[in-house]
Amino acid sequence: MCGVAGYIGDAPSSPILLEMLRALEYRGYDSFGLAVLDGDETDRVGRLQVKKFIGPVNQFQARAVGGIHGFAGIAHTRWATHGAVTLENAHPHLDCSQSVAVVHNGIVENSDRLRRFLERRDHRFTSQTDSEVIPHLIEERLRISANLREAIREAASRIRGSSSFLVLSRLDPKHIFGVKLGLPLAVGIGSGANLISSDPSSFPRWVKGVVLLEDRDLAIIGASSVQIVDSLTGISKKRGITWRRSQQSPFQKLGFRHYMEKEIHEQPSILKRISQKGMVGLDKLAKSLQQAERVFLVGSGSSYHACLSGSYFFSEVAGIEGRPLMASMFPKFSNLASEGDAVIAISQSGETADILDAISAAKKAGMKIYSITNNSGSTLGRLSEVAVDICAGPERGVAATKTYTGEVAALYLVAEQMAGRPREALDELRDASRSISKRMTDFVGKARSLASELHRVDLLLLIGRDAAFPTAMEAALKVREVSYIPSLGLEGSELKHGNLALISDGVPCVVFSPQGDTFIVGNAREAQSRGAQVIWISEGTTREFGKTVQIPPAGPLFPIYAIIPMQLFAYEMAILRGNNPDRPRNLAKCVTVR
Ligand code: GLU
Repeated sequence: MCGVAGYIGDAPSSPILLEMLRALEYRGYDSFGLAVLDGDETDRVGRLQVKKFIGPVNQFQARAVGGIHGFAGIAHTRWATHGAVTLENAHPHLDCSQSVAVVHNGIVENSDRLRRFLERRDHRFTSQTDSEVIPHLIEERLRISANLREAIREAASRIRGSSSFLVLSRLDPKHIFGVKLGLPLAVGIGSGANLISSDPSSFPRWVKGVVLLEDRDLAIIGASSVQIVDSLTGISKKRGITWRRSQQSPFQKLGFRHYMEKEIHEQPSILKRISQKGMVGLDKLAKSLQQAERVFLVGSGSSYHACLSGSYFFSEVAGIEGRPLMASMFPKFSNLASEGDAVIAISQSGETADILDAISAAKKAGMKIYSITNNSGSTLGRLSEVAVDICAGPERGVAATKTYTGEVAALYLVAEQMAGRPREALDELRDASRSISKRMTDFVGKARSLASELHRVDLLLLIGRDAAFPTAMEAALKVREVSYIPSLGLEGSELKHGNLALISDGVPCVVFSPQGDTFIVGNAREAQSRGAQVIWISEGTTREFGKTVQIPPAGPLFPIYAIIPMQLFAYEMAILRGNNPDRPRNLAKCVTVR
């Protein structure tokens, strides 16, 4: 789930690589490193200089850049899968002769076997990572013939699993190399310089064009040339370039303390933009679904909760079945699917491994594939017949906020469009944007005072019924992710089936009460009479429960209105507990491992 970055051009590479790594840190942040080919502009042939650090990039930026010169380099920010978080295991990894440096994203599934093979051939390993087999495989091939490009192709053909990797070698100082084998890689085109990265949003603003690589592509990148070949056959490939206009850098917090805070506050303006412009692909998706017999809504984490909300929209608004399934579970059920069935795969990044597995199972079952992502150029977007892009802008906080509400909004619009009410639905989103924006300051105040009372609790329960249940699940996930407090999202009807046992004196229960839900009052009373402190979230006011959060009249958009104060609450809890909400422990933004 890490990020890889490479640069070759007419400027010193390390400051540019470090800037790119900062933008990629959302993908993994336990350690980072870079390798630069020493040498000046005239004499580019030099030594491979490698630096590695444990901790965040900004803490070591000056030390990472200092004393390391060169016009070509590769870099990595890690989310460990094989081997502990140590300097030895941080990337880049080198071959025995220190001629080839590799940074790797993903997992080499057959690394144990390859490592035994290479050790028998006298290769010495210095880390516990799976990734280190790659430089040694390249070196092994170079023993036969001194053709670096062929050696990289050979290594690419021998590793199994989903990966992408970059190579820098003093054997060919005029190029850096990138191979895409299932995980994203994009080439950035500049003038006098070219770059490569796991995520094009990490490219500096002066990058003019972006080439999204496809699986098996080997990109051979010089300062003023980019060649792409099939890594298996060696045949040249043509890939389209997307030209970029200069844009506002997404890597500014604009006065907010964290990206998570900034992204929560961006939601009203994103809803407004959606209400004015709609979403690309939405009409087509709604039309295509009219032909579907059944629709599976598939996602992981917050996107799965968006699927749960979507299933209520589909049944209550559009009158069709939208069956929610966790992405990892979907392949086990795909044998029951028939050709009239459709899948809507929902993923912020469009690169989640579980989602891509689900899609490949759906394809095998002959189902139609549609997607809702924040990146329609992603692998998922490209595999879909219709790819709806929520266009929420890059989300840097690891905990999904604006992309979650964007996904929920997309599902609501699809359902309303299928029911023949597209205009009314857009108006409702516009109203939501206005009234949430007006209430944002109140929400922040409420979130702060609740967090200051509750940030030391050991357990938090969040309860909703029917269409409010997914909101309880999502709110609980937000609290867990950034505050690390065990928090459970419960369906109110399930309280009496075991969950009431969790309630003792003072346990906070956040209760989501949409207009017209009479049973939820009973649930809140059951909890309160057993000692729980109830936090009542609803459109109305009540004196019955001690703590309340009043939201504007929400109608069917309750999942959007009610989650925003809870996102702020989770954020404030994280701050008071001394956690960095942008970098929750053990997590990474883009989950490309299984
Ligand atoms: N498997 C590699 C490691 O553990 C790379 C992990 C990643 O993609 O972050 O170092």
